[in-house]
Amino acid sequence: MRPLVKICQPEKHSGQFVLSSLGCALLLLGLALFLGSCRQKKPPRPNILIITVDTLRADRVGCYGYAGGLTPNVDALAKDGVVFERGVAQVPLTWPSHAAIFTGTYPFHNGVQDFTGQPLSDRFRTLAESLKDHGYATGAVVSSFVLDRSWGLARGFESYDDAFAGQEFLVKNLGLVERRAEESVNHAVGWLEAHPNQPFFLWLHLYDPHSPYNPPEPFRSQYAKQPYEGEIAYADSQLGRLFTWLKQAPNSLYDNTLIVFLSDHGESLGEHGEREHGFFVYDSTVRVPVILKPPKSASLAAQRVADAIETIQVGPTVLELVGVQDPIQKQFQAASLVPLVNGKPHGPVRPAYSETFYPANSFGWSPLRSVQTARYHYIEAPEQELYEHQADPSENNNLIAKNADIATSLHAQLNQLLANYAASATAPGGVASGTSASPDVLEKLRSLGYVAYRAPAAPNAKLADPKDKLPVFQDILRATDQIQTGNFSAARSLLSSAQRKEPQLYLIPFLLGEAASHEAQWKEAEEQFGRAAALNPGFEQARMGLARALGLQGKTAQARDMIATLLTTNPQNFRAWFLLAQIESKDDPRSSRQALDKVISIQPNFPPAYRDRGLLSVREQTYVSGAEDLSRAAEMGLRDVTTYNSLGICYSRMNRLDDAIESYRRAIAFDPGYAQAHLNLGFAYERMNQPEMSKKEYAEACRLDRGICPLVAGR
Ligand SMILES: [Zn+2]
Repeated sequence: MRPLVKICQPEKHSGQFVLSSLGCALLLLGLALFLGSCRQKKPPRPNILIITVDTLRADRVGCYGYAGGLTPNVDALAKDGVVFERGVAQVPLTWPSHAAIFTGTYPFHNGVQDFTGQPLSDRFRTLAESLKDHGYATGAVVSSFVLDRSWGLARGFESYDDAFAGQEFLVKNLGLVERRAEESVNHAVGWLEAHPNQPFFLWLHLYDPHSPYNPPEPFRSQYAKQPYEGEIAYADSQLGRLFTWLKQAPNSLYDNTLIVFLSDHGESLGEHGEREHGFFVYDSTVRVPVILKPPKSASLAAQRVADAIETIQVGPTVLELVGVQDPIQKQFQAASLVPLVNGKPHGPVRPAYSETFYPANSFGWSPLRSVQTARYHYIEAPEQELYEHQADPSENNNLIAKNADIATSLHAQLNQLLANYAASATAPGGVASGTSASPDVLEKLRSLGYVAYRAPAAPNAKLADPKDKLPVFQDILRATDQIQTGNFSAARSLLSSAQRKEPQLYLIPFLLGEAASHEAQWKEAEEQFGRAAALNPGFEQARMGLARALGLQGKTAQARDMIATLLTTNPQNFRAWFLLAQIESKDDPRSSRQALDKVISIQPNFPPAYRDRGLLSVREQTYVSGAEDLSRAAEMGLRDVTTYNSLGICYSRMNRLDDAIESYRRAIAFDPGYAQAHLNLGFAYERMNQPEMSKKEYAEACRLDRGICPLVAGR
């Protein structure tokens, strides 16, 4: 019987039965008993839509008790489903939190604990990979470049939409590149329209409530005093559009779709002295909304669940509700929520875990871990904390002295959880990614003269409690703001005063290096980044800054070596490849081109790489490929004077004079004072036999740049 049973199982890539030829042969031999069941069509599996709204505090959502009316559409969804009153994020940082959600594993187990860390190891299977293997069409639309494909979460998604307007890359640093909900929801609906065949799995990520808080009108005016809330109301209004579309779509799409709505973390908004998220693990940042709208086929009654649950339970729950059996279930470190919702949990409900390694990795202070139950929140720190949710929702009254026994029990449960899940034969252990550096890296730093004289965060050193370091942390944040707004002397003075208190803190020389870079003081930048890298050789951003400062001073060999160490640790680091391309572009265009090819193969949605490769082509006089890359950069929204002027040169050399004129005109529209573009436009008109137009442009070029006058004299 065994083989027959096996034959009658559905094949991969289909929600329906497909018989293997062996199966059919056996059936023809008279085993008609199985024929009926094998030919029977299974009902299609439900569709899956996971929505993560970044940085959304649970207590700002209506169905979680907020009276401000920010979220009518999410609240309506909640009425159709299950509301988990105490959803808990495993880490209050965007990338690690999403990595945990989509692998169903704890951050200390999968190794993604910080935003400066490693990509997700390919030893971990993702929910998208599982669903794709079970016949789901898979698509993702993300709204921030911090979730771009190079981190490894794109695996399993047939379409991973991380294409952002090129202009964003010109004016912001990469970590701040984002798009608004309206555009992302449009892309999500576009993907759904393009995938009428079901079942589908779509992940939609909206980033609006993340800082900077900058909602569009009318929300901007309506929430002028609480722009964070304005962002939430705006994101909700866009979700309303998506829900309406699902309800109006054919095939009862809304009813046939399992919708999971959650957030990756909350936002402190000044509570506990923290402005945003990541530094602490208080409820303000780890408690998140989690709402489950089941498909009609599932028998789950709409209700509210009071137990503390973890966002890594989403994956197991989804697979149970759609009836998929997959190897990822062996990887999952948390149970499906279905038994809990049905009032039949398998065993006692375990406390929900959170951690942050941001204070450890970026500052060398103690990491923080916490567990919480429906009633208590215990935080493991050098000075431990215990709070009772109902009596003290803001977590201001530490009960540790009064309730030592409860704290002891929760502490034991925390240790048990770490003991059960940290280690794995196939997975990286619980090493904080940003604090370790390979012997190779250390050796390279030594050879470059940056001797690592202090290993960060020695394992058994008594580390500082982040809450005791709040004043320094806040000074550093203020200095970061000053750097962003160009007040470098104010930033330096804040940082110098912090440095007197914290001479070993590697973030301080790093930020001094940033300030120097903004002012193009490359020698100073080299010294400061070198100091930061020496204090913490695992601090990747310091080594990036150092490589850049070296390269811009013409110390190419040293810069190249520094980048090689970065790529040894993470070969998918396209930012490092791009930096290498920039450093090599002057003296070694071939290497520069190779590095740009690498960038594009890792991250095809990074417009500056096409622009730079196009500029190389112009230098090498390969105008057809130059035009291809430059027009691609422009199509992706990277529109500036250099791109259009160079594109004009390519078209002109290809004898596409109309296109050349159009490109030069666009270049001039961006910068009317750019003499080179006027000169080139003049040449193009001259070749088109338009002497009047041509003379006008020559005159303008000569007016803007006297050096051009002899070139155009008499023309
Ligand atoms: Zn986030």
